[in-house]
Amino acid sequence: MPLKNCMQGCNHGPFHEYKTQTPQGLHHSFSFSFCLFFYLFTLFGVWCHLILRPKKMEGRRVVGWAARDASGLLSPYSFTLRKTGPEDVVIKVLYCGMDHTDLHQMRNEVHSTNYPLVPGHEVVGEVVELGSEVKKYRVGDMVGVGCIVGSCGRCLSCNSNIEQYCNNRIFTYNGIYKDGRPTQGGFCSAMIVHQKFVVRIPEKLSPEQAAPLLCAGVTAYSPLRQFMGSGKVLNAGILGLGGVGHLGVKIAKAMGHHVTVISSSDKKREEALQHLGADAFLVSSNAAEMEEAANNLDYILDTVPALHPLQSYLSLLKVDGKLFLVGVSPKPLQFDATDLILGKKNITGSFIGSMEETQEILDFWAEKNLTSMIEIVKMDYVNKAFERMERSDVRYRFVVDVAGSNLE
Ligand code: NAP
Ligand code: ZN
Repeated sequence: MPLKNCMQGCNHGPFHEYKTQTPQGLHHSFSFSFCLFFYLFTLFGVWCHLILRPKKMEGRRVVGWAARDASGLLSPYSFTLRKTGPEDVVIKVLYCGMDHTDLHQMRNEVHSTNYPLVPGHEVVGEVVELGSEVKKYRVGDMVGVGCIVGSCGRCLSCNSNIEQYCNNRIFTYNGIYKDGRPTQGGFCSAMIVHQKFVVRIPEKLSPEQAAPLLCAGVTAYSPLRQFMGSGKVLNAGILGLGGVGHLGVKIAKAMGHHVTVISSSDKKREEALQHLGADAFLVSSNAAEMEEAANNLDYILDTVPALHPLQSYLSLLKVDGKLFLVGVSPKPLQFDATDLILGKKNITGSFIGSMEETQEILDFWAEKNLTSMIEIVKMDYVNKAFERMERSDVRYRFVVDVAGSNLE
């Protein structure tokens, strides 16, 4: 590189204009050093930008497992995360629970499913990036995401902190986000969620233990919460001993209730009484057992995910007893109104829980040292696991080890 005399055509490339009016020799050495310094400085800046910048998830392609049609079979699916906003939390997914609602949605059994559909709404993960206005969380925090990721923020439900009942709530998957893009769930390597719809996982809880609480747990907790602190020993019925049901037993027991499990067969009797701590066990098809137990329960948490006759369960309730429907029947349920009238019985529905209640159940779980009964599986087992869930062959919740799975 000729660097003798700049007046004779020095070649300082883009830094030529930095020449000074000093005597020639001095000028050259100063100019050369300055150029070299500036050049290296710029290179260093570019290197820092490329290598040391925070790894932005925005627009990043992620891999999840999606259903493509009503067969509900899941397979790898790559898509792009939405843009992050100032109030967004970017989460690396570690674990995700498997809920029967996933199955309903994957198979288009309830309201219309848009494919490809990445299910999963019991998501636990680690915060990897934060929007500028997120003050509540830090990078590295363990957080959870449940069934909804948005609501209008203005209606009566939103203003009353029961945003799960907002008519414009946005479901974690099979929803449309504010930017018009489909939402996708936690069977995926990462998610971007507004801070309002993120909860903190208490330190005492392991992430895999916490996962089922984000939907199943809060679904059982929300309707039962009204009885908390009443001091009364209520007679509780838990109908259907699956993911939601087994957490229902634990929550009702932790509230001091006398718990009767009502199951479709005798298979889970011993487990219910010995492992879950239930006080009594009824087989719904055993007419004699059911008759003997009539007019005894203060409430029933009905978690059955199929069409079932309400009549026989209503007869188990005391006067003014409550049947909380949380299980989703793909077909309309039937009951005889006379039973309700003559016994002043109540049938009510309940949908997950608020963000406040979701945080509460996590804290309640940690405080009471409760544990959920889970079976951890890798992503390549999910189709088999859903098949087993359908046959009620799981004790009692599958949790997918997302971060430990090969998603490709
Ligand atoms: P799950 O693990 O499959 O458990 C359901 C249990 O219901 C089964 O273990 C079985 O218990 C019983 N059951 C299944 N099929 C039955 C049938 N045909 N007749 C009678 N009993 C039957 O399901 P999950 O994840 O707990 O979910 C339960 C339901 O709640 C699903 O419909 C789900 O969509 C719904 N859900 C609703 C909400 C909400 O916000 N409302 C939230 C989460 C889930 P036994 O062996 O003891 O009979
Ligand atoms: Zn609203």
